[in-house]
Amino acid sequence: MERSVHFRAIVVRHTNYDEADRFITFLTPFQGRVSALAKGVRKMNSRKAGHLQPFTYVDVQLSKSRGASWLVTQVSTIEAYPDILASFDKTVRTSCVLELADRFSLDEVENVPLFQLTLDTLRRIAVFEDIFPVQRYFDLQLLNVTGYRPQLFECVRCHKKIQPEDQYLHYAMGGVLCPDCGSITAGSRKITMKTLKYFRYYQTHSFPEAAAAGWPQDIRLESENLLTGYQSYLLERKTNSQEFLEKL
Ligand SMILES: [Zn+2]
Repeated sequence: MERSVHFRAIVVRHTNYDEADRFITFLTPFQGRVSALAKGVRKMNSRKAGHLQPFTYVDVQLSKSRGASWLVTQVSTIEAYPDILASFDKTVRTSCVLELADRFSLDEVENVPLFQLTLDTLRRIAVFEDIFPVQRYFDLQLLNVTGYRPQLFECVRCHKKIQPEDQYLHYAMGGVLCPDCGSITAGSRKITMKTLKYFRYYQTHSFPEAAAAGWPQDIRLESENLLTGYQSYLLERKTNSQEFLEKL
């Protein structure tokens, strides 16, 4: 018995396999992350190869026999992003976005908002000159759509409403701590009120509103460090819990 599936997907990653093959990781709206073997795509005359480059939005058909891996049987490009590939900076930033989308997604579990956010982000990176706000919008919305939305409006320990002053952020506690609680809690990191204000705004507004607000230069380094740290913490926890479940 052979099964086949047909979907639209973003090519997020590929890994060489054997002499001429490649494993392709797709991000899909309804089947989450799906990996499939593309046979012969490293041969000069492969007709599929061009469609299976990372950063491509494709229409793809896969099939499999019982117990075997998915095989790519047909693929065509819906959208490619030459403006991203033409810029080294955009290429690097797109790789970061796709790696996060890949690592935060689940195998064969539907997540339409994550797929849509990733596709919108590719399109935005292609056209925007200042990509920093595009990437931070992706970071904050990624936490929303994967169930890791941090609490940024009240203290996660004493539940007091956050006042307009510098605060603390705590990865493991999942949000912001007021100065009283933060100064006595291990693992808390300082966050300026200005950065927190932008995190809150990007967490709760549409992309056009966020893009109109921009992201001030003086808090870019702080913002990126805090968000990257938060993502690393969550991904480590996700990996550990998966390993734990696999051992049961
Ligand atoms: Zn507190």
